[in-house]
Amino acid sequence: MKLPFIFAKRFVAGEDFGQAVPKVSALNEKGIKVTLDLLGENVTDRKTADHTVDEYIELLHRIKDAGLDSSISIKLTMMGLDIDTNYCRDNLFRLLDVAKEQDQFIRIDMEGTDYTDVTISLFKDAFKAYGKHVGTVIQAYLHRTKADIPDLAEIGADIRLCKGAYKEPERLALQNMPAIREAYKEYAATLINKTPFPRIATHDDELINWVKDFAESNKIGKSRFEFQMLYGLRQETCEAMVQDSYNVRVYVPYGTMWFPYFSRRLAERKENIWFVLSTMFKN
Ligand SMILES: Cc1cc2nc3c(=O)[nH]c(=O)nc-3n(C[C@H](O)[C@H](O)[C@H](O)COP(=O)(O)OP(=O)(O)OC[C@H]3O[C@@H](n4cnc5c(N)ncnc54)[C@H](O)[C@@H]3O)c2cc1C
Repeated sequence: MKLPFIFAKRFVAGEDFGQAVPKVSALNEKGIKVTLDLLGENVTDRKTADHTVDEYIELLHRIKDAGLDSSISIKLTMMGLDIDTNYCRDNLFRLLDVAKEQDQFIRIDMEGTDYTDVTISLFKDAFKAYGKHVGTVIQAYLHRTKADIPDLAEIGADIRLCKGAYKEPERLALQNMPAIREAYKEYAATLINKTPFPRIATHDDELINWVKDFAESNKIGKSRFEFQMLYGLRQETCEAMVQDSYNVRVYVPYGTMWFPYFSRRLAERKENIWFVLSTMFKN
């Protein structure tokens, strides 16, 4: 049985681009940049993967035509990663050709650990060919991140640092929050010191305040990095940070395939269940 969209509307901006546009414009008007994410994952046939790339390309055109201040995030498993790596690379490059031509930016989201190696490898290929038009995501909870961060910092990659949203086993990922936070701080420091414009993606005040203090005490200007949050969470905090001259970007997901994204938001924080219920009762 498919849940009605009313359940998801707290975290998902609409079921199509048209429904998402007013929400993106409202954020832009408040000085908040956006990353649009057409929801979906794990496509297993070429016809659907080809169609997804066409949809992403159309999204780039529509963002430009609507004059929105928005990049896009994509998932490689929506572009054929489960079918064939070279085919997925071709699809990614087809999309990046348009992004480069229109001076836009694509971020490759990070999925579960089955895909970490290949995602980083395809990102590096793309970064060589398209430079500033592409970035990726690194998850602080993974043990391997200790090596990935200096490696990616060395090439000046554009990295969004997050804690990690997928359930991973102990042999691959830290399991307790204090350890994840300590790892996050170490990696944020490396990215801030060594990359041109790191993206700090978290709703966690301890980490946000630590990054602000670290930057200030190391004389790193507020214009040298960006905070990122998810649509529907902590908007007042985002607005206050913009007022305080920080760069802020909100990740705005939309589309009919919202269920896996919605489930991850409920799983990571029990208060999110109450948010969903309270939004439903509002109308
Ligand atoms: C922009 C963005 C992009 C992301 N992209 C990816 C990705 O590509 N791959 C991936 O695996 N994961 C991604 N994530 C998800 C991420 O990995 C975490 O699962 C998610 O952000 C939860 O961790 P957190 O640090 O935000 O806060 P949590 O660990 O959920 O919470 C920590 C503390 O922060 C505070 N807090 C959290 N939420 C709120 C709130 N709504 N209101 C008030 N206080 C709050 C509370 O004090 C809480 O105890 C992304 C997250 C963001 C923000």
